[in-house]
Amino acid sequence: MSSMSRRHLMMAATGLAAAVATPRIVHAQAAAPTAATPFTLPPLTYPIAAFEPHIDAKTMEIHHDRHHQAYVTNLNTFAKDNPQIAASPIVDVLGKLGDVPEAIRTGVRNNLGGHANHTMFWQIMGPNGGKPDGDVLAAIDSDLGGMEKFQTDFNAAGGRQFGSGWVFVIVDKSGKLSIETRPNQDTPIMDGKRALMGNDVWEHAYYLTYQNRRPDYLKAWWNTVNWKVIGERYAAAKAGTLGV
Ligand code: MN
Repeated sequence: MSSMSRRHLMMAATGLAAAVATPRIVHAQAAAPTAATPFTLPPLTYPIAAFEPHIDAKTMEIHHDRHHQAYVTNLNTFAKDNPQIAASPIVDVLGKLGDVPEAIRTGVRNNLGGHANHTMFWQIMGPNGGKPDGDVLAAIDSDLGGMEKFQTDFNAAGGRQFGSGWVFVIVDKSGKLSIETRPNQDTPIMDGKRALMGNDVWEHAYYLTYQNRRPDYLKAWWNTVNWKVIGERYAAAKAGTLGV
């Protein structure tokens, strides 16, 4: 058993109270990028069991340590012969996929898209995530019809996405919000847009607990959202500095 898996098991055994007291004990160490592995898996900044019962710990572990890691591993394989895909900011590479060599273009689209989407996803979730306030709440009220309508519409869009994909809140440079979906690991970044936040509706995100009940997962997921981070991302979007 790897030390990482052992830590997960220990965290599951010690329970949520201990987990909250030591929120960075799991995945605290980020691997440093190297020339051979320029892409790295961003560590979770909260315990693997932080979102029980809404997202179970096993799903979080498989999702982060295996699914997201696989995108990172594949990118490092592509980067061996194509170091340029790691030399520019992710948003620049995804925004100009036509510049990526054709032989690896689909692979970069899927794996760099997946890396970007999941990096955003882990970031905009967190325990004790609070409530939207300030500028982002004002934008939700004016552009998305208020929190209740926003959540209903977002969940409906995520439910309608056929097969694998994502439901996003897009933010433009003026701060205007809209709800859009993308298939597979596509991201609004590919269209020159930015995702304020998004939810993963691939089955791997919810199947162990929810099986085919995606609408139940979509509803429960709101308990995991970190509004402080989303508020910071909203300010960054308006400043033109929001990345993945
Ligand atoms: Mn996923």
